Amino acid sequence: MAAAVDGPLVPGSPAGADRIVIIPGPWESLSAPGRDVVLTHELTHATVRASTTHSVPVWLSEGFAEYVAYRDVTLPERAVVRPALDAFRRDGLPPALPTDADFDPAHGRLQAAYGSALLLARTIARDGGTAGLVRVYRDVADPPPVWNVPPDDAEARFDAALVHDLGTDRAGLLAGWRARIRSLLAQ
Ligand SMILES: [Zn+2]
Repeated sequence: MAAAVDGPLVPGSPAGADRIVIIPGPWESLSAPGRDVVLTHELTHATVRASTTHSVPVWLSEGFAEYVAYRDVTLPERAVVRPALDAFRRDGLPPALPTDADFDPAHGRLQAAYGSALLLARTIARDGGTAGLVRVYRDVADPPPVWNVPPDDAEARFDAALVHDLGTDRAGLLAGWRARIRSLLAQ
């Protein structure tokens, strides 16, 4: 980890005092394009935190930050997510969407988890593009009151956004994600 967002977060309120901390050792080991990706990722988190009021599933937060960070990177997708593809080749296709625990540094597979999250964010953006992905994120973080979902349940808010914004459910999203992974593994 070469940088991180730091600042107080109160559920129900946007962040108002975030800063991005650069971690000197890992930062110095990055190439210039690598630094652009890391800084864009963290700036995306800071921007989202300042404009939303509830947390979302970790894979959505990290996948969205990776989506923005890699949007202008011209490397082939299979190169960007190589650690994730290596893990899928070894362990098989994912049986379910990622859990928050997959992003615990103690888990020891962070690179694969971030690549998985990027592929999932790109799966969500496949039809509606960046605007569609942003809409899903906004609706998970701040669902319209008429959806009537519990504000303290990020997973329930995500389920509602799947139905209302994408016209699908977890099984449908999982199938699309697995298809994207399968085609990358076949390249
Ligand atoms: Zn992040």
